[in-house]
Amino acid sequence: MKRILLSACLLGNPVRYDGKAKTLRHARLDELVAAGRAFAYCPEVGGGLPVPRPAAEIQQGDGAAVLAGRARVVTRDGDDVSESFVAGARGALALCREHDIELAVLTEFSPSCGSGLVYDGSFSRSRVAGDGVTAALLRAHGIRVFNQHQLEQALALLEP
Ligand code: SF4
Repeated sequence: MKRILLSACLLGNPVRYDGKAKTLRHARLDELVAAGRAFAYCPEVGGGLPVPRPAAEIQQGDGAAVLAGRARVVTRDGDDVSESFVAGARGALALCREHDIELAVLTEFSPSCGSGLVYDGSFSRSRVAGDGVTAALLRAHGIRVFNQHQLEQALALLEP
């Protein structure tokens, strides 16, 4: 039976940089959690960052470039938090491997969880093409990544 990883903030955990959640409501999700088939994980907390924490964005690249050491994740004050983001991404991958998770629904635009588009590092809400650090690492290991607006697509792949 397939299992799914979700950004912890989507499952109601108040772990975002501002201490809030971004709860995604769907009856099927409640059933999957109860059945032990849906797992919540926050890569930034998993990587050792606190809640709340300074907002961070990827500069001069995307998550794949951060993993390759060609870009970095920095806070608005210029602190380099790349190491924590990479550690969190590795934690997500380890969780997926431990539980045979094949699908992930991750929060859009986040420097960790974003898929397809991420904030561009200017802290102006502008976005560029690319994945967040965790999304990039999961994709590189064959896990299919969706954003929260693609939940139905992911659930369709999860059945039965
Ligand atoms: Fe949510 Fe991902 Fe940000 Fe954690 S890192 S708060 S799970 S978007």
